[in-house]
Amino acid sequence: MSRHDVVVVGAGMAGLTAAVRLAEGGATVLVLAKGVGATHLSPATIDVLGYAPDRVDRPLEALAAFAERHPGHPYGVVGAAGVAAAVPWFAERFADGPLAPYAYTGTADENLLLPTAVGVLRPSAVVPETMAGGDLRDGGEVCVVGFRALKDFHPRLAADNLSRHPGVTARGIELDCVPEGRVDVNALGFARAFDDAAFRKDVVARVAGRLHAEERVAFPAVLGIADPHAVWSELQDRLGRPVFEIPTLPPSVPGMRVFATLRERLRRAGSRVVLNNVVTGAEHRGGTVTGVRARVGLRDVVHGADWVVLATGGFASGGVELDSRWAGREVALGLPVAGIPAPGEERFGPAYFGEHPMARAGVAVDADQRPVGADGARVFDNVLVAGATLAGAEPWREKSGEGISLATGHRAAGLILDAAGSAQRSAVAATEG
Ligand SMILES: Cc1cc2nc3c(=O)[nH]c(=O)nc-3n(C[C@H](O)[C@H](O)[C@H](O)COP(=O)(O)OP(=O)(O)OC[C@H]3O[C@@H](n4cnc5c(N)ncnc54)[C@H](O)[C@@H]3O)c2cc1C
Repeated sequence: MSRHDVVVVGAGMAGLTAAVRLAEGGATVLVLAKGVGATHLSPATIDVLGYAPDRVDRPLEALAAFAERHPGHPYGVVGAAGVAAAVPWFAERFADGPLAPYAYTGTADENLLLPTAVGVLRPSAVVPETMAGGDLRDGGEVCVVGFRALKDFHPRLAADNLSRHPGVTARGIELDCVPEGRVDVNALGFARAFDDAAFRKDVVARVAGRLHAEERVAFPAVLGIADPHAVWSELQDRLGRPVFEIPTLPPSVPGMRVFATLRERLRRAGSRVVLNNVVTGAEHRGGTVTGVRARVGLRDVVHGADWVVLATGGFASGGVELDSRWAGREVALGLPVAGIPAPGEERFGPAYFGEHPMARAGVAVDADQRPVGADGARVFDNVLVAGATLAGAEPWREKSGEGISLATGHRAAGLILDAAGSAQRSAVAATEG
């Protein structure tokens, strides 16, 4: 049986954040995950708090009152201080990372307003440098460039909708550049094409003469996967104006950049991510987990650990499931699931971005992120829960998903490092005494 200081279950934003902070703090860490998480699907912007329920301009300022109004919300557990600590930590991981100088910009103090792929402006706090030029709080002129072969990004639709926002004038153009001669290319295919100087030259030649004097240029978020900073900078230089990325539908190239960066930081700190491991249970002595059981192909392997961080992504990633009688199940460790509406209570509201009580279901935790049962008692002393598996949030409605996963993953690691540090100090004192 392998043994680690910490086993992290889940390789999304929450799990990777916890793992990197732990490994950089000196712990031996093993990340076990069924597969990649929402990084590869979501825009990879750190949305701290976008709606509460009205649009939020200053998320950090809004957090204290928000947490008070939503008892049991993960932000009530980490507090504004936890968010304020996690956000710069995340941005600093990119400096000297494998994609440097590609960077994140912005703070949790204020939200930018960035276009979605359908031209709606959405609040977002900390974003890739390649997206920040799309902040349209003060309006502006935008030329949205799309590619006929990239089927899930429609520049004219995005531009038409953008033009409905006060102060924004937008139009769309579509190019016929086709990477690798293929008819149907996804975002990753285009990102690889943008890493190639000849492709970039071709795109610039087709766009440059068609721009109006004051227009900035929006591309789908496919501006390079190997060296996005260089691709973006070159396009800005050659087009002589701000260029920015608009997140696409999945797969998410900016999310893959996050995954690559955090995984590489983990590797440099001596730890690793192992995919295709489905955690199916825990071995424990009383309230202490001694190891987690993972299914790899047809085998079960037990990994010993002093600590476990559970970051399995909730319903969206199969970390929590419902059976046909609406009973909830936390899949990896069998923890209690809180917040499932009782029979007869409303589960889902009629509006997509409206209130959905079911969205708040998940694992409830105490102030130290330990899982608790319905009576509020801790289930395990050395398991901490982070990310979308936590109960109490409605991330789609709040625009808080990445903020919650980052802040709770970051804090879970801090709590473990503190506890391990004080245990070590007590052991040294006992030896010396
Ligand atoms: C398409 C899409 C768009 C989104 N847009 C936004 C947005 O605009 N703004 C925003 O803030 N948020 C957005 N979100 C939500 C946000 O991305 C997530 O809330 C957040 O990334 C969740 O991170 P996580 O680490 O908690 O979980 P996840 O990223 O879901 O990771 C869960 C991990 O656990 C693993 N896992 C699950 N069960 C097991 C098991 N039994 N054993 C081993 N591993 C297991 C999974 O394989 C995965 O690696 C979006 C999500 C999606 C899917």
